[in-house]
Amino acid sequence: MRVAVFSTKPYDRRFLESANATRGHELVFFEPRLTTETATLASGFEAVCAFVNDVLDAPVLEALGRGGTRLVALRCAGFNNVDLDASQALGVKVTRVPAYSPHAVAEHTVALMLALNRKLTRAAARVRDGNFALDGLLGFDLHGRTAGIAGTGAIGSVVARILTGFGCEVLAHDPAPNEECRQLGVRYVQLHELFARSDVLTLHCPLTPSTHHLINRDALTLMKDGVMLINTSRGAILDTVAVIAALKSGKLGYLGLDVYEEEAGLFFEDLSDQVLQDDVFARLLTFPNVLITGHQAFFTHEALSAIATTTLDNVTAIERSGSCANELHA
Ligand code: NAD
Repeated sequence: MRVAVFSTKPYDRRFLESANATRGHELVFFEPRLTTETATLASGFEAVCAFVNDVLDAPVLEALGRGGTRLVALRCAGFNNVDLDASQALGVKVTRVPAYSPHAVAEHTVALMLALNRKLTRAAARVRDGNFALDGLLGFDLHGRTAGIAGTGAIGSVVARILTGFGCEVLAHDPAPNEECRQLGVRYVQLHELFARSDVLTLHCPLTPSTHHLINRDALTLMKDGVMLINTSRGAILDTVAVIAALKSGKLGYLGLDVYEEEAGLFFEDLSDQVLQDDVFARLLTFPNVLITGHQAFFTHEALSAIATTTLDNVTAIERSGSCANELHA
């Protein structure tokens, strides 16, 4: 198929071209994000390949449909940015990459926990500056602590395995509990107990209407003072304003983020010589106990390879048979 690839970075191009060497699609790479303004670039392309911050709401899907697009091949797992009702009504199929490397995201999640706990960025800056004092670098043993996981699917279950290995007591909440996690000794509890008992709470549920602002002022009130909160899932699962208030009061002791609710237009770009316009994000950056990465948890060699392969296999499946196991339905 002719595929218009949006939000292309050099690494996307490299991995997609490599996977396409044995698949034979015609890939055309566009750097801009897919939005109402850029959707016309896809005119005449049967397929569009999109990423996490591309806009796939009804107006964009209608524009794509008018241009002859009949497939949106997401090169990511989450699909909160797609209006599936609109795509179905327009007859535009949508595929995704359900699991590429849950290890990539799980390991980054634990990296955030360890870096925050042992204040690694601060410690490294001090040592580079010839300051070998330890004041302000005191951490805690993860061993023996209670870790809470919201969502024990592909990624959350790997996090459970790693944290069990550290000797944490692992609690979880998931409407569809995972038997493999139970075998590891993970105990499923209601959300309020997860919030109340966790020393470290990490989010691995998808962003849906029911998880939007799951971590809000009420949820934060239930948590232990000084709790560590990690979000590598989707930004809007946290109410950022409530989280900032909890950081200011000391309720939140540590915050690790790889995602942010207003990240579109901010993350994945080099804005280092521009004035940051997002005051909420700017406030987050002022806290010494906040560590933010720019949606890089997926960014490993293994994950990019698997993403490229599965994305193009999805295109091939739709081209050949009109259906695909990784197709999303409204
Ligand atoms: P998954 O579908 O395998 O697992 C999600 C789990 O969340 C499921 O078990 C589901 O039952 C559970 N869930 C649904 N609603 C819930 C709720 N209200 N409370 C608790 N659990 C709930 O998905 P996954 O592959 O583990 O990915 C999880 C999320 O991680 C994705 O939706 C995506 O947003 C995010 N993600 C982020 C990155 C990154 O680079 N930061 C990369 C990949 C995925």
